[in-house]
Amino acid sequence: MADRLKDKVAIITGGVAGIGLGVAECYVREGAKVVLTANHNVDGGKKAVAQFGDDKALFVQMDVATEEGWNKVIKETIAKFGKLDILVNNAGIGGDGSPIENMSLDNWNKVINVNLTGNFLGVKAAINAMKDTNGGHGSIINVSSVAGLVGLPMAPDYSASKGGTRMFSHAVALSLAQRKIDIRVNSVHPGWIDTSIVPEQAKAAILQTIPVGHMGEPKDIGEICVYLGSEESKYANGAEFTVDGGVRA
Ligand code: NAD
Repeated sequence: MADRLKDKVAIITGGVAGIGLGVAECYVREGAKVVLTANHNVDGGKKAVAQFGDDKALFVQMDVATEEGWNKVIKETIAKFGKLDILVNNAGIGGDGSPIENMSLDNWNKVINVNLTGNFLGVKAAINAMKDTNGGHGSIINVSSVAGLVGLPMAPDYSASKGGTRMFSHAVALSLAQRKIDIRVNSVHPGWIDTSIVPEQAKAAILQTIPVGHMGEPKDIGEICVYLGSEESKYANGAEFTVDGGVRA
């Protein structure tokens, strides 16, 4: 397969490792130009740009929880590639695993700021950039989680942020569609994918909960994001796409 995303420009937050890098690999394979972001992992950013080539990839260091970060990534995207077609709001963090009665407000705010407020700021910035540079056309993919569909007892903060992303996606999709703005918004709900976000000490227990018997790999999420970023999904809007090895079946 190739060219399903030919000439499209995509921002993938947290695109230098884990699921985000898997999305980027699928996107470049399908002909997209990718802008990869991370808050700290500059080495990962340089490595990814070297992997894909300077003509196909750009790394921008930014914090998704800040407006300055979004102004920076949009500005650099337009300067290098001229437009924005797709935003994959993928960057996210896990909770600290405390029981809810011991959880600190600081921890709660941190998870909500990165996972939910980061999505809000990204969606807002992307819609404006798509209007300014792409004729008001585009696709936004918010990476939520199965933990945004059912509660994850070890991480109520994380579940709250991912459930928020899910309903935020529905509401924004409706708001845009009702105003006949051709920007689609969908959420993707990964089950357990083998990345650094999965606590090492919990892996054995987690495996017992997955019907297919193993965790997914980042490209499993990359492929659904190819579909949602491409014109193949032109009638998919405000919907939830679960990719979880049968956990929710
Ligand atoms: P990961 O830790 O490997 O990657 C997270 C990425 O987000 C990193 O590249 C990191 O640099 C970036 N990031 C974190 N905070 C940031 C910030 N403030 N600003 C910019 N970038 C930031 O984890 P992952 O598993 O690849 O997670 C990617 C997304 O998938 C997250 O939203 C996560 O919640 C979601 N998810 C993961 C799983 C799983 O099992 N791995 C399951 C469901 C959902």
